[in-house]
Amino acid sequence: MAERTCAVCDDKLEATVIEVKIGDQTVEVCCEECADKLREATAKSA
Ligand SMILES: [Zn+2]
Repeated sequence: MAERTCAVCDDKLEATVIEVKIGDQTVEVCCEECADKLREATAKSA
């Protein structure tokens, strides 16, 4: 049983989970703030 955590801040994911699609992958984060950070980070590395 993998515990689901935010890909950005590493907090545990609870009721509110936001899915961000990065290429073929779907990454789960805890809030819009983290979703934005993730999109920014991946956009730079592309
Ligand atoms: Zn987060």
